[in-house]
Amino acid sequence: MSAARIIVQIPYGDRLLVAEARGIREGLPYFGWDEAPVGLYTTTQLREAGWSVAGLDPVALLVFRHRKPYARESVAELFALADAALRPEPSEAQRVSRLRNLQYAMRARRTCVDCAAEKDYCVPTSTRQCWSCLEIEMANDVEEAA
Ligand SMILES: [Zn+2]
Repeated sequence: MSAARIIVQIPYGDRLLVAEARGIREGLPYFGWDEAPVGLYTTTQLREAGWSVAGLDPVALLVFRHRKPYARESVAELFALADAALRPEPSEAQRVSRLRNLQYAMRARRTCVDCAAEKDYCVPTSTRQCWSCLEIEMANDVEEAA
């Protein structure tokens, strides 16, 4: 049953993994179920282990069939754990931009929708009004009701 395999080199972090693959698909070596070399994982497996695959390129494919007869062939991308682990820390520019976004969001939360003043506290999310405007509005409501 086992067809001819090919020997491939897969980039794994800063080195190469040598493995026996079933062939090449879409430019990537592919493996059958339980045949992928140690260190290569699917998106789901990496996420479950607490790693993110954002920005990573798949290094191989996993091709398998479900046991049920109607199930079609499935293909999953495989990522190198070393790539996820070696991902560089966010750059200074990214850190500054994240901080700016955070400050922008915080300023929005402190700004009153009525008087547009930025307060030193977060305005209530229900009204988005500062306490002064809220008090004025409540006083007006009382006057109208009287
Ligand atoms: Zn106000």
